[in-house]
Amino acid sequence: MKALSNYCSLLFENCIDGVIILTQTHDIIYVNNQAEALFENEFSLLWSRNPSIQKQLFYGEKSSPVVAADLPFQQVISGAKVADLELFLPSSSPGKGHWLRFDGFPLSAQADLPQSGIVIMVKDITGRKIAAAAALTTVPRDSLTGLLQRSVFIDRVDHALARLNHDPSGLVAMVYIDINHLKWVNDAFGHDIGDRLLVEFAHRLITSLRSEDTVSRLGSDTFALLLEDVASYSAVVSTIEHLYGSLDQPFFIADQPIQVDVSMGIAFGDADSKHPEDLLRAASMAMYQAKQTSGQRYRVFEDAMQTHVEGNLRLEIALRRAIPNQELVLYYQPIVSIRSKETIGFEALVRWQHPEQGLLDPVSFIQIAERTGLIIPLGWWVLREACRQLRSWQDTEVEAKDLFVSVNMSSAQFSQGDVVGKITSILAETQLQGKNLKLEITESVLIENSASIVEQLTRIRALGIKLSIDDFGTGYSSLSYLYRFPFDTLKIDRSFIEDADTSYDKLEILQSMVRLAWNLGLELVAEGIETEKHYSQLKALRCESGQGYLFSKPLTAMAMEALIHKQFEA
Ligand code: C2E
Ligand code: MG
Ligand code: MG
Repeated sequence: MKALSNYCSLLFENCIDGVIILTQTHDIIYVNNQAEALFENEFSLLWSRNPSIQKQLFYGEKSSPVVAADLPFQQVISGAKVADLELFLPSSSPGKGHWLRFDGFPLSAQADLPQSGIVIMVKDITGRKIAAAAALTTVPRDSLTGLLQRSVFIDRVDHALARLNHDPSGLVAMVYIDINHLKWVNDAFGHDIGDRLLVEFAHRLITSLRSEDTVSRLGSDTFALLLEDVASYSAVVSTIEHLYGSLDQPFFIADQPIQVDVSMGIAFGDADSKHPEDLLRAASMAMYQAKQTSGQRYRVFEDAMQTHVEGNLRLEIALRRAIPNQELVLYYQPIVSIRSKETIGFEALVRWQHPEQGLLDPVSFIQIAERTGLIIPLGWWVLREACRQLRSWQDTEVEAKDLFVSVNMSSAQFSQGDVVGKITSILAETQLQGKNLKLEITESVLIENSASIVEQLTRIRALGIKLSIDDFGTGYSSLSYLYRFPFDTLKIDRSFIEDADTSYDKLEILQSMVRLAWNLGLELVAEGIETEKHYSQLKALRCESGQGYLFSKPLTAMAMEALIHKQFEA
């Protein structure tokens, strides 16, 4: 039986796992002592056709036996790869047995082997299974999903890091997972469905991972995984890719397909890692970075992120002082009639005159403002300043009375206090008429404030103010929003204009958006018109108005004033 070279068999005899080598026709080439002991010298009885002596493997201690075609060696013979397959083998004494973990791969014929075959490796994991079952009954768990609670999870991470002290080459991975827009699911389908989704989600996490991996629910829509004994960085990345693939399949809850979008952050812990909370923080930082980068589903933590976070922290502290220190300024970008190219209004776009870093674009601070809630005072400052500015131009240039100013509103402004009262008092204070004001809101405003938003928007419109849906096409772009909410204008996101001359699909979408807007009686504004080609395309589609570098970049108040003056002079 032992047809292997002495070196090989010496190696296998000293290995703690069972090793079995078979030919494609079940002839045993080699079985080491460990495997013989595990199978009580009766390994070959696994494929006996005589039921009275046949040995069977089971999926669980009380579940059904594995059918012949699904036995691990049979799977490998048929060309499948077997990894981490856990099965129960009852022993000859009643009520006893072993939990075994199988891995297997094909082996091609070579000097040592007379013909091609397969290798099966078996590990006895009974001890771990017993410990896991005991832990299951005593450990505090999340009452909805049954997953470990945060405190226990942190404890497990602590132990894993302590173990690394004895194994300097070991590696663990922490994965932080956030479900994007769970609130949207709750609002759209109800909390009951949201809860069932979370249970299914937790189940999918567990079944996509190895049984020794630890899964925890940290908060309502956040989860964390601890992967121990990982072989390499790339092995973790492929586990995450596999997990993402599984979570990306729709969940069917009450016959309803629900697509879940997740962002994940990965942090690695090695012998130098000391505190579990640090690892968790690193993984969550990476998750936030992934969330903020469109098209990125996971991100691995790097030290540079720490620097980035520290940089953001400094920016956040400085931003708190920006309003009282009068460091914010407004730029104005003309919105023109596509037919005549005349300016009909302008969008107010905030800039920050940072004392050390110079003039900053909103991309570098709006997200920080959103996260910290500073967007609320910032947003109201912008609205007041934009209204004051237009009113002052109207006072000097009589034709400016027909221009409008378009102001971006953040979702946070709507979730706080009396929005309508605040807008009313800003109009009264600046003496601007409602008809000269447009408010731009994105779909997130509708998602995050769904209960009272229709009523608030209706009251805003009653003040003569126009409502515009901004960046249309980038969010959920749910057509139902357009029917349900009282909008006047649809602003088509720049990405559709950008690609419409190269991508036929984008052009098709653009055409249907134009048609849709017409059917709903909405006015259209195309964002990001940069070239004559964009312009002629939009003109051909009979889009009413547009905004973009072709006409003008955002201008300082002074330059905008000059532009208004010039237009009416002509
Ligand atoms: P947005 O509301 O979609 O504003 C349009 C952005 O597109 C502006 O960038 C504008 O400069 C840029 N843009 C206009 N035409 C073109 C073009 O032809 N090509 C290209 N590549 N870009 C063009 P900006 O000023 O950097 O503002 C970025 C975003 O920051 C805004 O997107 C808006 O979401 C946010 N933001 C700006 N000001 C405020 C504000 O006062 N409050 C709030 N809540 N958000 C603001
Ligand atoms: Mg806008
Ligand atoms: Mg926009």
